[in-house]
Amino acid sequence: MNYDIARKRMVEGQLIARGIRDRRVIEAMLKLPRHLFVEEAMAAQAYNDNPLPIGERQTISQPYMVALMTELMELKGKERVLEIGTGSGYQAAVLAMLADRVCTIERIRPLAMRARKVLDSLRLLNINIKIDDGTVGWEEEAPFDAILVTAGAPDIPPKLVEQLAPGGRLVLPVGDQFSQTLVRVLKREDGTYATEQSIGCRFVKLIGRNGWETE
Ligand code: SAM
Repeated sequence: MNYDIARKRMVEGQLIARGIRDRRVIEAMLKLPRHLFVEEAMAAQAYNDNPLPIGERQTISQPYMVALMTELMELKGKERVLEIGTGSGYQAAVLAMLADRVCTIERIRPLAMRARKVLDSLRLLNINIKIDDGTVGWEEEAPFDAILVTAGAPDIPPKLVEQLAPGGRLVLPVGDQFSQTLVRVLKREDGTYATEQSIGCRFVKLIGRNGWETE
């Protein structure tokens, strides 16, 4: 298996062909070895056009979904970013290549530990991981220029809007447990916010105080 070729095909066939235009997102996903973020037995499928299981009944998101959500965050390089749902660590790694600092929260300890190992092995040192309920954000590290939630929420968690800097973007899937819509929240300078809807999607549940109660 030639992973470089598989990655190039993924970027051209799944991202560029579907309208991803942000050059920095494209470059980051061309560089990042996605196959290292899944179990070895699944490495050959890492560049396929679908999510994959990562254990603990959780998934690494489809490459196109990672690219689209990242593009919606409009990162230029100097931002402080929060991700809820570290999972495999792949999305956090993409964000770390595009922003100044990434804080990421995962509620399942073994996933966070494995992600930490992979991210360290890639020398991505601008990522801070916390094991906790991310639906209440990360008060001590706030405010954030951009926040990304990579699990499906029943509503927009108010704490996350609160921890967004004026002018900041929050991107998250909102809906019921079977299907959601990708939503972008744009916080204005006066603290109020507007929402925009993107495509339909299906994520695992966001579980916590401001999310779903149970799996
Ligand atoms: N971003 C991940 C990646 O690149 O592999 C994919 C994330 S997976 C679709 C969703 C993750 O959100 C799961 O690992 C799940 O345990 C986590 N999660 C769900 N509710 C959470 C919460 N309240 N706080 C933190 N993590 C949560």
